[in-house]
Amino acid sequence: MRPAPTITLRSGRERSLLRRHPWIFSGAVHATKGAPAAGDTVAVRASDGRFLAWAAASPSSQIVARVWSFDEQDTIDESFVTRRIVEAAARRTLLAKRTDACRLVFSESDGVPGLIADRYGAHVVVELTSAGAERWRDVIGAALLGLDGVEGVYERSDVDVRKREGLTERVGPLTGAEPPEEIVVHEDGSRFAVDVRHGHKTGFYLDQREARLTMASLAEGRRVLNTFAYSGAFAVAAHRGGAAEVVNVDSSGPALAMARRNLEVNDIAPTGESFVEADCFAELRRRKERGEQFGMVIVDPPKLAHRSDQVDRSTRAYKDLNLQAFALLEPGGLLFTFSCSGLVSEELFQKVVAGAALDARREARIVGRLHQASDHPVHLAVPETAYLKGLVVEVS
Ligand code: SAH
Repeated sequence: MRPAPTITLRSGRERSLLRRHPWIFSGAVHATKGAPAAGDTVAVRASDGRFLAWAAASPSSQIVARVWSFDEQDTIDESFVTRRIVEAAARRTLLAKRTDACRLVFSESDGVPGLIADRYGAHVVVELTSAGAERWRDVIGAALLGLDGVEGVYERSDVDVRKREGLTERVGPLTGAEPPEEIVVHEDGSRFAVDVRHGHKTGFYLDQREARLTMASLAEGRRVLNTFAYSGAFAVAAHRGGAAEVVNVDSSGPALAMARRNLEVNDIAPTGESFVEADCFAELRRRKERGEQFGMVIVDPPKLAHRSDQVDRSTRAYKDLNLQAFALLEPGGLLFTFSCSGLVSEELFQKVVAGAALDARREARIVGRLHQASDHPVHLAVPETAYLKGLVVEVS
């Protein structure tokens, strides 16, 4: 057999790999031998020739290789990739008691860089974002289809990051049965209708599962303002927790249509002015000027910082949203505020929210902290995989 191509690192650049960080940046490479094509397995070696890792080559990316394994004895083949997927799915077994919708594989955090696989009932939706995952696409499809109860695997590789890996968009059935237009899943006693073809990401914000549970437990009797409502998952949670009224705001009409549908599948009758199609920044201001009051305000904007040079601007936007939200809360009211930007640390986010409370002249305290659900594990060596953080803040 032809020896695997080899990437040899510059002297001293093996440190992050020794700490189990799974990325090799182009600037760390001293030499590449054997001309690896996109997705080929390469041996990564230190400048003294020591073996460091097996990795998948991504020659057109800044991250020229992503680690499969730090064990020289491993062979990266069909059975290796299948095993990683089966093991990741097995780690979610207990979640099945609560829901039939969960993330089965979360990329680097589950040892399959570039693969996201989300299960919605009998269907799995995958997003392949690296040359390595793309190379093993058919094996990935077969492994997922082989899991208990899975009937079909659908691909939603329509994200921008694929371009950086030299990959084009691909959307459609990968293997097995095609998903229906609407899949109704259950979670902690609620039901959610998911459109895996047109929904955000793979169709639903699975990562907010714990926030939904906490919110439901604190919603009793409150008037709720749910900004950035998307498909109304938080609205369902608040209603189930006994909220008096929920106002959903989103700039997308189709998102609000999904929110309406989600109330319907839970037999919840819309209350008052339930769906408002508007820009949340303007809508929060407008309601503040009208002197409205809410017992709970939810602020869950889309990712506002995609690159490190956008962090400053994003903190100004987070500050503005939270400042307006504080002004709308009645005494004893709760703010549920989130950031899903991995580049905005939990510490920085808390500072921004503290600044917003100060400017709104509200006395407030943190009564809860929320994070991405456990099926979106954090890679210990990659702090950025802890992307979702939320604060529950109670005002006086
Ligand atoms: N909280 C939701 C997820 C929110 S996703 C959940 O748990 O399911 C972000 C949403 O914000 C999207 O639905 C998008 O349409 C909406 N959005 C983005 N920018 C907006 C803006 N400026 N004003 C109103 N909605 C916006």
